[in-house]
Amino acid sequence: MSDASPMPAQALLRVAVDAPQHSGITGPLDYLSEQALAPGSLVRVPLGRRELMGIVWPGESADPTDPALLRPILGALGGLPPLSPHWCQLLEFAAGYYQRTVGELALSVLPPQLRELEGSQLQLRLKKVAKWAAEQAKVPAAEPSVPTLSPAQAEVLAQLDALLLAPAPPPVLLYGVTGSGKTEVYLRAAEHALKAGRQVLVLVPEINLTPQLEARFAERFAGVATVSLHSGLTPAQRLRNWLAAHLGEAKLVLGTRLAVFASMPQLGLIVVDEEHDPSYKQQDGARYSARDLAVYRGHLEKVPVILGSATPSLESWQRANEGRYQRLALPERIGGGAMPRVRLFDMKTLPLTKGVTTALTAPLLDALRLRIARGEQSLIFLNRRGYSPVLHCGECQWKSECPHCSAYRVFHKGDRTLRCHHCGFTERVPHACPSCGNLDIAPLGRGTERLEEQLAEALPGARVARIDADSTKLKGELEAQLNAVHAGEVDILVGTQMITKGHDFRRITFVAAVNPDAALFSSDFRAPERLFALLMQAGGRAGRDAEQAARSEMWVQTWHPEHALYKALHKHDFEAFAASQLAERESAGLPPYSHLALLRAEARTPEAAKAFLDAAARWAQQLPEAQGLLIYPPVPMSVARVANVERMQMLVEAGHRGALQRLLWHWLPELGALKREHKGLLRWAVDVDPLAI
Ligand SMILES: [Zn+2]
Ligand SMILES: [Zn+2]
Repeated sequence: MSDASPMPAQALLRVAVDAPQHSGITGPLDYLSEQALAPGSLVRVPLGRRELMGIVWPGESADPTDPALLRPILGALGGLPPLSPHWCQLLEFAAGYYQRTVGELALSVLPPQLRELEGSQLQLRLKKVAKWAAEQAKVPAAEPSVPTLSPAQAEVLAQLDALLLAPAPPPVLLYGVTGSGKTEVYLRAAEHALKAGRQVLVLVPEINLTPQLEARFAERFAGVATVSLHSGLTPAQRLRNWLAAHLGEAKLVLGTRLAVFASMPQLGLIVVDEEHDPSYKQQDGARYSARDLAVYRGHLEKVPVILGSATPSLESWQRANEGRYQRLALPERIGGGAMPRVRLFDMKTLPLTKGVTTALTAPLLDALRLRIARGEQSLIFLNRRGYSPVLHCGECQWKSECPHCSAYRVFHKGDRTLRCHHCGFTERVPHACPSCGNLDIAPLGRGTERLEEQLAEALPGARVARIDADSTKLKGELEAQLNAVHAGEVDILVGTQMITKGHDFRRITFVAAVNPDAALFSSDFRAPERLFALLMQAGGRAGRDAEQAARSEMWVQTWHPEHALYKALHKHDFEAFAASQLAERESAGLPPYSHLALLRAEARTPEAAKAFLDAAARWAQQLPEAQGLLIYPPVPMSVARVANVERMQMLVEAGHRGALQRLLWHWLPELGALKREHKGLLRWAVDVDPLAI
């Protein structure tokens, strides 16, 4: 080939890049390449004066640029198989549905290290993964102890097996009370998929739960290469695990919500454990629901999806009612263990003592003493960490407000600080009232820290431990505390909702919720659903050992024992609760009978936030797509000011998902220009299918 020869034939590539939002780039960009590259290949491309990682994207350019104006790619990341067409489709759907650009979302779900690697570094990583996989295969497959299935489990599995073979299986809602053996069903279903040579993806709501699940799977599947994917991994671990899944070396992938985007070329089964858990919804950036995307991914790849829960989300429950999901039930606890008896303790029966709010009522203390005497463990659940939610001066009514937020700073007695749980602003507790100098400032209300202290005072000699976000900040602390509980070194465990999830406490026979009423009267229509799930889950911690199940008890202190939620809880009747909630939702036109999006605005002043949302609403109103949809007036968020930023939101409601999507598609692209006209506005965002209103 002489120097004068023309340029070699150039292939036209569409490349998805993570372009900054202000660039106005919404879709993949066109580039030239000397070699034709398969969609899903990773490439380096120039953008302006920068050099970016991009993904060759499937499909034709909608609006092709004149090839003479195009720039060539800088290189391809060789040695890495391309991301699959299914993966690209999943990302394209997710980006469209949650109103992000495909490049932004697709690049953001890849391991950060992958985006920075040079070709030679990648080769090294790939070699390491191959070595790791070879080592995994050498682990001797010990004979695991496999429990005998209950008739209900066997029945559920037979149906699941039939689904594994179906050409396009519907999602399965595995509705099983706590302790009914859902995990065993996951294990068996996984075993069958693995035997068929497929990969299995298991999602859990919290990182805390992954070690426990990993142990269960490792015990059953020695020799099966397993990786986890969650935000607690180091960047190097995350890349290694991602590569192992992408290369098909890792057969089992366990992870939190971000793992729903794991590249798994031989995917054969997806399990979403505790599918109702709000942690599956991402709360910033692309506000996606990993549960909903798992269902979509199953549909796309035609693989079974198991959504497991003792208290399914009302969305999933309703879809099962409609026959869109197949409902399989495990109605009984394994080994004949009974659900704990629920005792609704009516706070109105207490003698009224002036100014005293008793969480530790005398009958509750008696019940705790009884358990201690029998050598059993108790769990007390209070969804508020810290010592007390407010510090208060009785002289001048000063309260420990956060100067930057419309919220109180919480008193943490352990380190004598006032801490804002919204912006993090922390100060030493003042010696005297900052407003009037009164020395007698007192805590108002109660958090887990104070409850722990009061328990220790009321029950001398009792071994009280606390598990919440404060007591488990350091690595390994949670594990150490859980081990102490398992070893029987704790009589009473106090904690936030952290202790209600998943942990398999064998010696707990008594669970108490001391102050759960607030959720009954929340402005958030999902609050009762969450409270019910939380209480059922907390109650499920008790009596997991069949021997102790008979005398297990759940104690709920309430001022409203006649409330329908507590009535249903009393009978462990999720179905009755779901039916009553769904009836309420239907008459109020709330999800799952309608579809919502929230437009949020943040500004230095509430006026600026409101002005932007009002203008956005006016813009929407003149679009034909807004016909028949409801756009509510802007309102401040429940905590309106955080770190000196005023936050408002505006609800959009539609009868049909498609109608909502059409409006968002025509409306949101205009908001960038609108933002430029509203100088006081800091940022705006949209939340499709918001979980918290
Ligand atoms: Zn004062
Ligand atoms: Zn604050």
